[in-house]
Amino acid sequence: LFIALEGGEGAGKSTQATRLARWLEERGHAVTVTHEPGATAVGQELRRILLHGGDDHHISPRTEALLYAADKAEHVESMIGPTLAEGGIVVTDRYVDSTLAYQGGGRDLRQQDMVRLSRWATGGLRPHLTLLLDLPPEVGLGRVGAKRDRLEREPLDFHQRVRQQFLDLAELDPERYAILDATQPVDELARLIRERVEPFLTE
Ligand code: C5P
Repeated sequence: LFIALEGGEGAGKSTQATRLARWLEERGHAVTVTHEPGATAVGQELRRILLHGGDDHHISPRTEALLYAADKAEHVESMIGPTLAEGGIVVTDRYVDSTLAYQGGGRDLRQQDMVRLSRWATGGLRPHLTLLLDLPPEVGLGRVGAKRDRLEREPLDFHQRVRQQFLDLAELDPERYAILDATQPVDELARLIRERVEPFLTE
């Protein structure tokens, strides 16, 4: 079972990924929690370039898209793929839809190119369920506080485009997507997530 958590800055994805994994483990499942970018050794180097590199903190949009794709390729090949093959559950904090939302929606890149690039990088591996933790970017950015990296220095309208893109993706694929209001208290959000995941558990 492959589950992705998606959403903008400060939505609580990593907190919820950990909570979900703990609950799954309590039920006897083997779970791997992971994230993008930067879950592998190659990915960590790519993450540093993506978030803190570039000339004067600028990376061309195409270069950025290719580096995210490289991170994904490594993530799928060396981690997600083998874990799923062993029958484990993978919970990832960000996956392909982040690329479609940030590079396809936020940057001026063609969405269709991002779809093809991501499909190629991942060998077409898609999550069974994607949980979109949706919240207004001003709320998320407020939670994140001090500006940590390049992305958090983008103007608000960039983050608004990202949010809209996530929502559009979710609408296109309601079978795979659950949209959850991430302004809710952590415990309530965790409960709603468990409710969505439950039907995917076989034993
Ligand atoms: O989720 P996390 O904070 O670790 O993500 C790091 C940064 O990378 C975030 O600011 C996120 O907006 C950005 N990102 C991106 N494109 C992706 C994935 C993440 O711009 N495809």
